[in-house]
Amino acid sequence: MTQGLITSAYLVAAAFFIASLAGLSKQETARRGNWLGILGMTIALLATIASVSMDAIVPLVIALAIGSAIGLRLALKVEMTQMPELVAILHSFVGLAAVLVGYNSFFETHSATGAALTVHLTEVFLGVFIGAVTFSGSIVAFAKLRGIASSKPLSIPHKHKLNLLALIASALLLVYFVGFEGGETALLIMTLIAVVFGLHLVASIGGADMPVVVSMLNSYSGWAAAAAGFMLSNDLLIITGALVGSSGAILSYIMCKAMNRSFISVIAGGFGQADTQQSAEQEQGEYREINAEDVADLLRNSSSVVITPGYGMAVAQAQYPVAEICQKLKERGIKVRFGIHPVAGRMPGHMNVLLAEAKVPYDIVLEMDEINEDLADTDTVLVIGANDTVNPAAAEDPTSPIAGMPVLEVWKAQNVVVFKRSMNTGYSGVNNPLFYKDNTQMCFGDAKATVDAILKAL
Ligand code: NDP
Repeated sequence: MTQGLITSAYLVAAAFFIASLAGLSKQETARRGNWLGILGMTIALLATIASVSMDAIVPLVIALAIGSAIGLRLALKVEMTQMPELVAILHSFVGLAAVLVGYNSFFETHSATGAALTVHLTEVFLGVFIGAVTFSGSIVAFAKLRGIASSKPLSIPHKHKLNLLALIASALLLVYFVGFEGGETALLIMTLIAVVFGLHLVASIGGADMPVVVSMLNSYSGWAAAAAGFMLSNDLLIITGALVGSSGAILSYIMCKAMNRSFISVIAGGFGQADTQQSAEQEQGEYREINAEDVADLLRNSSSVVITPGYGMAVAQAQYPVAEICQKLKERGIKVRFGIHPVAGRMPGHMNVLLAEAKVPYDIVLEMDEINEDLADTDTVLVIGANDTVNPAAAEDPTSPIAGMPVLEVWKAQNVVVFKRSMNTGYSGVNNPLFYKDNTQMCFGDAKATVDAILKAL
């Protein structure tokens, strides 16, 4: 295949990736977006295979086969609730790949001199730096999401100064590395600094900020891929990396806005610095319990119902009976809608995907901002496996670690029923005063079993 044809194929693939991103931005077109992405990637892979010399084809195809087999197995095995972990570990591979490409590119013999050599060395240095931060940061994110590491923020003294020191040291090493035309010791020291920097950066971030961290690491992995693209002079990798990098950055920004957080403060860590442990242990008051039959009665006597799902619905896989309840209530002429918080669950859009899977019509699935103003006129709100995203402390208690984060204001409804298994806190580790409000009743048990029982009683 000629270089011109390969470049054209890369451009076509890039156009498919852009169309794919556009498709993924809406529920109705998300499936099509996925297919367009798959098509773009197939074209890119075929063009890449066609671009290498004959003797490189065999190892390339073997690597592709091994990678595809692992990817297929992981994708088939992974639960929806484990997706953020999978995404985090995949980001770490992108970071590691950028580091390896950087080192390979550095040791490879090249004829660049003068300005071209300066550009080449800067590319190598920055590619390895971004890659190493992405690699180690993603591993910590994976460990936190999987529960191997604590979701609490690591708080070592002078942490911001240490981060700044790491950045200054890396900048000085860059000057040395480029100024003295190479010097693998500088590259190696910077790699170690970047690995520790990435570990510390993500370890310092508290549980409730993890959604932003995952999308931020997504963005970093994109920039790492783009850096690798520059080193390999591969246009497609540059374009794809820039697309992932910028879309991840935009998503991080949207999520920060949804959580009323500044991007810098999330990156610098510190959310949940107020003692969440203490807050979780504080005596909160009395709570009332309700059983499934009484919830069914309450629903029958309501004229409007809002369901706010969270991570617990995903764990219990309760979306199918929830969809059936919704259908049953609609048949009785009761107005039913869903209220979705932007960070409900363990990844953006998590709840929307589950509800779409259970065939809940899109038009009754509303965003937090759309449903909040209607909650005061709602008879009954069912909080199914959600906790942090419905915590009134965010709106009412300025000393709360989650103060200022917009939440679903479910406590404004006439009746609130919370489905969960215990009085435990949510992912952020912050206690929830909603459970002790006069209009709230707790329905304990696995969300699926409880919802099934309500369905039977209806
Ligand atoms: P939370 O984690 O705040 O709460 C989920 C609740 O579900 C828990 O309190 C738990 O209580 C309950 N639960 C768990 N399993 C079951 C079950 N089988 N049946 C019934 N209840 C169950 O979830 P939210 O969705 O409200 O909030 C999401 C949180 O996760 C936020 O803090 C967010 O920042 C964070 N996060 C979000 C990400 C994203 O991208 N959206 C990524 C990473 C973190 P109990 O144990 O008592 O049953």
